[in-house]
Amino acid sequence: MTLGETMALMRTREIGSLRHATDLALGIGGAESNVAIGLRRLGVDASWLGRVGDDPLGERVQREIRAEGVDVRCVVDADAPTGLMLKERPSASSTAVFYYRAASAGSRLSPDDLPEGWVEEADLLHVTGISALVSASARDCVAEAILRAKNAGVRVSFDVNYRSALGSPAADDELRALAARADIVFGGDDELQFLRPGHSAEAAARHLIDEGCGEVVLKRGADGATAYVDGDVVHSPGFVVDVVDTVGAGDAFVAGYLSGLLAGLDPPSRLARANACGAMLCMTPGDWESSPTLRDLARFCDPDGDPVL
Ligand code: ATP
Repeated sequence: MTLGETMALMRTREIGSLRHATDLALGIGGAESNVAIGLRRLGVDASWLGRVGDDPLGERVQREIRAEGVDVRCVVDADAPTGLMLKERPSASSTAVFYYRAASAGSRLSPDDLPEGWVEEADLLHVTGISALVSASARDCVAEAILRAKNAGVRVSFDVNYRSALGSPAADDELRALAARADIVFGGDDELQFLRPGHSAEAAARHLIDEGCGEVVLKRGADGATAYVDGDVVHSPGFVVDVVDTVGAGDAFVAGYLSGLLAGLDPPSRLARANACGAMLCMTPGDWESSPTLRDLARFCDPDGDPVL
């Protein structure tokens, strides 16, 4: 289960700047709900908690996530709008995202929004650094969810997902403290270095493990990923794909990794699955739409083989 802000997402249909775009496609996106949808596609029960405005975009957010089979626990906030992001493709291989989320309903998530018993009944809680930075109340909500998970023996997964535009020295420190409480930490090179300033990503990963984190997973874009787990270091190369849009690859990757963990796959297998999920997400424009099912994965990894049913 996971919590965080999901926004309406408008993206240009053609390559070029938003300055001249005339045709926009409407959808939704949010790091945590992307992971929840990715998990559902891979056969894992998932629940998402968020806040939306009392407006059509809020209804759209809830409807789309629910349509994917995710259990939606949404607070409808009458006093704030659903956040919005705009995505343009300045060139065939690049993407830029603009956020309109200041004072949005989703950023007003608070500990009071956590349903009684919701965290405690989970196999795993997944949270991200975006929620830890988007507002003080959202950060408190993440902290409370982690506390409840820890007290109930529920594993905690944390994707650093650092957004410098939301950061401040004090909030950054709080994010670091939250990440340090997780059992599984995901991050890119810069993000692991951010967690332990002055150290390389590898040294930062080893510090986290020494301090009690069970596993640290380094996302390396087209180069794949590395997991530090059970005293071992596992590398897995990336898949070569035609990249259209990499936004959301990290979330699909996390869904792949966590689904493998929950299914009992060993570290190399779950890392390979995660890489395949991330690569497949890069092949289409949406933030989560091409997050694969198990059958999609089997076809992608072995196009000539029989699909796994
Ligand atoms: P985002 O925040 O944009 O969702 P991220 O920065 O968290 O992504 P990345 O390292 O960019 O994470 O990507 C996550 C995973 O997706 C990579 O570890 C890899 O498995 C896959 N991936 C990303 N980019 C590519 C690519 N160009 N080619 C193949 N696989 C990729």
